[in-house]
Amino acid sequence: MHELENFKFINPFANLPEDFFHKQNWTPFDNPKLIHFNKELAELLGFPKDLNAEDLVPYINGNKAFKHSAPLSMAYAGHQFGSWVPQLGDGRGILLGQIQTKEGLMDLHIKGAGKTPYSRFGDGRAVLRSTIREYLCGEAMHHLGIPSSRSLIMIGSDEPVFRETTEFGAMMVRVAKTHIRFGHFEYLMHNKKSELIPILLDHVIESYFPDLKESEDCYTDLFEKIVSSTASLIAKWQAFGFAHGVMNTDNMSVLGETFDFGPFGFLDEYNPSFICNHSDLGGRYAFNNQPSIGLWNCHALAAALKDHIEIERTKDIINSYERFFYDELTAIFRRKLGLTIEQSDDLKLIEAFLSWMQKNKKDYTITFRGFTRDPNSLFEDAEGKAWYEQYQRRLSLEQISPEKRGKMMAQANPKFVLRNYLAQEAIQDAEKSDFTRLIKLLEVLKNPYAENPEFDDFAKAPPEWGKKLEISCSS
Ligand code: AMP
Ligand code: MG
Repeated sequence: MHELENFKFINPFANLPEDFFHKQNWTPFDNPKLIHFNKELAELLGFPKDLNAEDLVPYINGNKAFKHSAPLSMAYAGHQFGSWVPQLGDGRGILLGQIQTKEGLMDLHIKGAGKTPYSRFGDGRAVLRSTIREYLCGEAMHHLGIPSSRSLIMIGSDEPVFRETTEFGAMMVRVAKTHIRFGHFEYLMHNKKSELIPILLDHVIESYFPDLKESEDCYTDLFEKIVSSTASLIAKWQAFGFAHGVMNTDNMSVLGETFDFGPFGFLDEYNPSFICNHSDLGGRYAFNNQPSIGLWNCHALAAALKDHIEIERTKDIINSYERFFYDELTAIFRRKLGLTIEQSDDLKLIEAFLSWMQKNKKDYTITFRGFTRDPNSLFEDAEGKAWYEQYQRRLSLEQISPEKRGKMMAQANPKFVLRNYLAQEAIQDAEKSDFTRLIKLLEVLKNPYAENPEFDDFAKAPPEWGKKLEISCSS
């Protein structure tokens, strides 16, 4: 217990000027109950190996305090669906504290923690349904190899939370390298606190890119890192069929990690104009718009940083976004198709395959996985057969053995992704206090590339009801 109370928080962000946040405690639930604890992640973070998760609950619920934590809600702003919103901030989140790990600094952030000065009209809470979705997806993304926030612990309550219907409140702790968003810089710029921007830039460099300290133009160098990691993250989303749903600038991490999961969705049938967010009527955040929205967001960040970065270089960096994106995208798709050497028209080959998938309404994940096992059997129509012949010619340039190729492809084409209907089934049970399916799904998603035939049911395309799920922003 003593060990837990003294947990090693160091909190460099909390030492920045008070303009960046509001130091505060949060609002506990009356009857918190443990729903899930991620033991592996806890160990990585340095929690005691023999920790009883129940002992952690009062610290997360806010009944007990970690001695060295410095809880706070962050101030930021952002562009939401393209419109400027001058004041956002952690309306229901608390940065509990930061710790140093082998992989660098990590933030522990509580979501659903109650009201803060940034709550605006909200109640500061998160419902069980959306907490489960975020909890599942952080882990699913991480195990796929996509940079993402992760999920440490989830607690539920019998506190009613009012959305379209009355639901129950929940809290989770998410773990991410940072919670600094593009919107932090926009907030400073637009609220006439521009002189504070270098302080936050220095903080990001000091905390995450110490090598840049020596550089003459370190702020523009940092901007380049942000742009390239954003482009490369979105390339991964595209390659794995992930739609984020709410790519507002306040949901964009400056370290290129996926976070703030709302109405996200993994593609079932390959439909590039898929809109996962039922509230996104114009399709601004449709699956195939994500790469250009990522660029739009980088422009918004450049505008916020304009007095601190070198303008000509900034233009070049923005112009490189497309190259960063396509370099990563083609590298992933080459692995998915089992190609190891680079040929100039690989992208065309990939695009032709995707176009065939679209016309034939193929399931994205199942088709790529099937390709790993027996590509020939996938193609029954003339266009598919012609593509396959072209692919065979392309394969003849390769040097590696079919066995090695098979292995590489199995590591690039997941069998298990977090399909909406799987999350929905886990939620429906959880809302009746049965968490078995949630726990099993978390287990399945830990090894998305393994064959694990005992989990075959989790690799299936959605049933009819699961194709029509409408996920809204309400959370
Ligand atoms: P999100 O769409 O979850 O990224 O949230 C956008 C903004 O609304 C952020 O500033 C959130 O903190 C705030 N927000 C979302 N839900 C609530 C809520 N229930 N209570 C207070 N603020 C909220
Ligand atoms: Mg957000």
